Amino acid sequence: MIDKIDTETLEGWLDNVRSFADAGRVADYIPALSERDPHELAAAIYYLDGDYYQAGESDCCFTLQSISKVISLALALIDNGEEYVFNRVGMEPTGDPFHSIYRLEQHRPSKPLNPMINAGALAVSDMIHGHTTEEKVGRLLSFLHELTDDQSIKVNEGVAASEFETAYLNRSLLYYLKQHGVINGDVEDTLKVYTHQCSIDVNVQSLAKIGAVFANEGRDLKSGRQIIPKHLAKICKTFMVTCGMYDASGSFAIKVGVPAKSGVSGGVMASINGFGGIAVYGPSLDEKGNSVVGFKLLEILSNRYDLSIF
Ligand code: GLU
Repeated sequence: MIDKIDTETLEGWLDNVRSFADAGRVADYIPALSERDPHELAAAIYYLDGDYYQAGESDCCFTLQSISKVISLALALIDNGEEYVFNRVGMEPTGDPFHSIYRLEQHRPSKPLNPMINAGALAVSDMIHGHTTEEKVGRLLSFLHELTDDQSIKVNEGVAASEFETAYLNRSLLYYLKQHGVINGDVEDTLKVYTHQCSIDVNVQSLAKIGAVFANEGRDLKSGRQIIPKHLAKICKTFMVTCGMYDASGSFAIKVGVPAKSGVSGGVMASINGFGGIAVYGPSLDEKGNSVVGFKLLEILSNRYDLSIF
């Protein structure tokens, strides 16, 4: 029997971590993200039996950013199968910052080390089936609607435009991948798919629900319908453990010990088998790009409720 963390208890834990936001900074390399208040804070927990609790500014919308990499990977694996995807993108953690180009130069034939760094995620976006960028983004949105049971989830066009205009590093990664035959599509088209997937607006409720579906071995919580095949959900969660928290994934595994993925907007999604999904939003980031309060809250919850999978 799980000792449930209800809204009141969760509010209490949020109060404990609120001040940690002062230790970080809001991402500013994407102009639209820099406008967020570093002290925004929200969290949600979705249990596998459907019980749901939220606390803080839970109506706040924020963009998925890198958390989208887990979702696009699941869709690309469904579309193409493991062999096709992992012939083009590796399975190993890097220890480098998420937008690093360095390792691409070191491997022959060139292959991004994993799908959670930008080079790998850009290659994954290229693999999503669809004849046009609109069709690819539309399929990704439909997949999210299925995972969350929320048809209102959409792209924040302002953030997408802001990121697309300033994505010089991601463009260079894509040109490199194109030169080496890792992507088939056009550079600008693939960048458009990627920047749109990163700019999908969610709240902590929808994010916790996605985490819970992954924790439920890919099955819808209510109907039990298999949305993501079990073995593919397992692959995604394994990447969350080994590379989900940027180059702090090792210390996160030791201190928290749950599959999780963070994004530079300040969101973190955790997915814990036998428990459910947890989402935290706090846009103040540490030097690795993880939400400072997100990391801290998950550390506290993991220790208090014995959540570590190790
Ligand atoms: N859209 C962001 C980028 O590619 C995602 C980065 C992140 O959240 O880690 O720079």
